[in-house]
Amino acid sequence: MTEQCDVIILGTGAAGLTAGLAAAHEGASVRIFEKSELLGGTTAMSGGIIWIPNNHLQEGSGVKDSRKKALSYLESLSLGQIDSDMAATFVDNGPKMLKWIEDVTPCSFHLIDNYPDYHPEHPGGLPGGGRSVDNNLFSLPELGDWASRIRGQEKGNPVMLTETPLGGATATPGRKVIGERIQKGQVGMGLALVGGLLRALLDLGIEPEVNTPAIKLLTDGGDVKGVQVEKDGEYVEIQALKGVIIATGGFEWNSELVRAFLRGPMNAPAGSPENTGDGLQWP
Ligand SMILES: Cc1cc2nc3c(=O)[nH]c(=O)nc-3n(C[C@H](O)[C@H](O)[C@H](O)COP(=O)(O)OP(=O)(O)OC[C@H]3O[C@@H](n4cnc5c(N)ncnc54)[C@H](O)[C@@H]3O)c2cc1C
Repeated sequence: MTEQCDVIILGTGAAGLTAGLAAAHEGASVRIFEKSELLGGTTAMSGGIIWIPNNHLQEGSGVKDSRKKALSYLESLSLGQIDSDMAATFVDNGPKMLKWIEDVTPCSFHLIDNYPDYHPEHPGGLPGGGRSVDNNLFSLPELGDWASRIRGQEKGNPVMLTETPLGGATATPGRKVIGERIQKGQVGMGLALVGGLLRALLDLGIEPEVNTPAIKLLTDGGDVKGVQVEKDGEYVEIQALKGVIIATGGFEWNSELVRAFLRGPMNAPAGSPENTGDGLQWP
């Protein structure tokens, strides 16, 4: 392997971009590989709502949340099948992660008032909301030329979820407001999340490498040592001195996996088309 770095990230959705940022802040040299010519994955197409119990935005809002309630909610949703250590790790670290993202990126968030948990009737569910967090607007021009490389940015999405009927508003903002936002290149939801995370990475000198799918993991006696990627028609091996983070999204565009693991046919997947479950299939 001729090339090397500390941490390799595969995928540029919220998971990959956040992992890359975290590794870089810990001092690691980071390379991020993206299969698509576009950045942001399904995250960029999404509502961008982040579900974090006990988040710092609840302070002073009257929301009554707790670690115990959050854990019982997750336990009940999974019919007791959740890995309890994993659930505890998520509940304990989610709030720190959300605050940290606000501290180190241009991303900022607000609570979606009265946006209930999806199963508020379950133990620990919050009917009045408080765990679902919406993105504030992000200005795409802050990304310079990189803005045009984000999936779906050309269609724009100049509203926050809280400004839509789904987020509790009676109507979306008027034409004048929308027109001004379009002129400024402001976007909300998943585009805002990807935009802010990407800006922070670029500020650290990390540029995701697009059109560079990971083909396989390179292993040695069961340990992952690096990744083989395809770049400009060539296979390139890159050594990861500290680790490889697989953040290649779902498998909704892989008909075999869909048939094997999902109920019913899925004829029109909504996620990004490169999500063919690659990272789920590597041995
Ligand atoms: C319309 C819609 C709205 C949604 N709204 C919400 C919401 O409001 N809140 C919520 O929590 N969830 C929502 N979701 C679900 C959510 O968007 C996804 O669960 C989330 O974005 C997944 O993020 P990710 O980083 O894991 O993957 P993704 O964002 O899908 O990113 C995966 C990336 O990996 C890349 N990739 C794939 N294979 C390879 C490979 N071999 N090598 C390199 N790169 C590869 C892909 O091209 C892609 O860019 C929504 C989904 C949709 C479709």
